[in-house]
Order: sequence, then C-alpha cells, then structure tokens
Amino acid sequence: MKTFSSKDEMYKFSSAARAEGKTVGVVPTMGALHEGHLALMRKARKECGVVIATIFVNKTQFAPNEDFSRYPRTIESDKAGCEAAGVDAIFAPTTDEMYSPDFATYIVNEKAAGILEGAVRPTHFRGVLTVVMKLFNITAPHVAYFGQKDYQQTVVIRQMVNDLDIPVDIRIEPTVRERDGLAMSSRNRYLSESERKQAVCLHTSLVKCRELMMGGEKSAKNLAAAMRAVIDTQPDAKIDYVEIRNPDSLEPVDNVRPGDVALVAVRLGKTRLIDNMIL
Ligand code: AMP
Repeated sequence: MKTFSSKDEMYKFSSAARAEGKTVGVVPTMGALHEGHLALMRKARKECGVVIATIFVNKTQFAPNEDFSRYPRTIESDKAGCEAAGVDAIFAPTTDEMYSPDFATYIVNEKAAGILEGAVRPTHFRGVLTVVMKLFNITAPHVAYFGQKDYQQTVVIRQMVNDLDIPVDIRIEPTVRERDGLAMSSRNRYLSESERKQAVCLHTSLVKCRELMMGGEKSAKNLAAAMRAVIDTQPDAKIDYVEIRNPDSLEPVDNVRPGDVALVAVRLGKTRLIDNMIL
C-alpha cells in the first residue's frame, strides 16, 4: 500500500491506473477509522481495480466553535485498517497542501445551507462539497463511496455531481452500527460511559418510527412526536431536530410514504450525533 501526501503524486498514481484501464474507486474520510469506513473500503475493493482512501480532517467544514482541533487523529491505526481492507493507496495531505493561503473558491448548494444539518451548521456543506470536489480532482476516481449515515451529505454530493456534470459514479452504502444499534462514528469516542448508554436513543427512536409506520401511522407530525418522546426519556439528550423528509429533495412531508427518510440530530453533553433511517 502506498501513502501520498502530495496532490501531484496522488494524481499521477491515479492517472497511471486509469491509463492501464483500471477502475479507480475512492473512499473519502476524515480518519479515526471504524467499521463504517472500512466497510466502504471493502466494498470498493470488491468493485474496483484500484482503491484509494483519503484521510483528511477538513478544516473548512468545521465552524469556529466546533471540534476541528480535538477531532481524533489516529493515522497509524488508520493505515493498518486501510491495508487490511485492501486499499492500494492512501491520500493523507496536510491542510497547507490542500488550502493555499489565498484560497477563495467554494462550492455552495444554495438550498442545503438552510435545512437540517445546514440550519445548525450553515457553512458545513460548503466545506464538504469543496473538499469532495478537490479530492475528486486529485484522485480522479470513476467511483466514489459514501455512507448513508450522513444522509444529507449523500443528497448534496449527488446533487453536486448532477448539477456540475462531474463524471464520478456515487455509491451509497448502509450505515454500520454497534451491537446496540448506535451508528458507528468517529465522534462516539467523545461520549462518557453514561452518554454512550443514552446515545442508543437515536436508533431506538428511528426503530420506533418505522414500527409505528408499519402499524399504519402516516402522520409525520405524530411519528416525529413519538420519536421525540423516545429521545426525551434520556436525561442528557438534547434534540437538534427530528424530521421526516422526502428522500431526494429533503422537503418536509405531511403524510409519510414508504421510502421517506427519518432524520435525527441529538446533543449529548458536548457531542453531537446524527442518524437516519429509510422508512
Ligand atoms: P467521516 O470520516 O466521518 O467524514 O466519514 C467518511 C465516510 O464514511 C462518509 O461517507 C460517511 O458517511 C461514512 N461513514 C461514517 N460512519 C459510517 C457508518 N457508521 N456506516 C457507514 N458509513 C459511515
């Protein structure tokens, strides 16, 4: 397995693979890898001739009050995980390599900033889309893998690819969970023992929503209220949002139909967790 920190060397590696007729797959991550990330890499391994994993904690997607400086950085164990998952090359640049001091060009989804994650984190998707576009340009993939865990992110990335005619095939893989249902996340390690136990309420609320819907409840308002009630049983859980939305447009729905998506964001102490389920 190769590790690149230079954009030029990364691009040369990928171009050479493309010239040999290989399908190049990329898995963008911020490191602190867990089974969710590794599942994306193993999927890429099955489907692509060359697999690139990127590891870059992207400053532009964090607001000044967020956890950029304390975000976990575990590059040595990340490398071992990538190697075991069959990755051919890691791209792990520095912030200086990615962003020159006079950097000034961003990609903005004009709708996303106002809703769900974008309402709470107004500059988040601008940072995500900009870095994903840069990573696509540097790693020149045919295919890119993302997790359903970050549902709104998958929607804005697909829209960017459609709107800007980017020749990359976007594949979304299911959320990998802990045994109790908590979605794996690099941020779970911030949780205290008590918060960790309470954190399962995100998943429990989604399961409750699905059960009620299967039982015939169609009102998004009633389903959201039931989900809130589940989360509110946990003393330290503070809800940012509980929503049921159209899976493509993320517009609110009144009457829930199969295929709509339930999304939750909850704060536990200083940690903010998100999860979702297709109903
Ligand atoms: P991150 O390092 O958090 O930026 O995540 C990198 C990629 O891994 C994104 O596409 C995430 O959606 C995906 N991912 C994170 N957690 C999970 C999970 N539990 N299951 C599946 N994919 C995940």
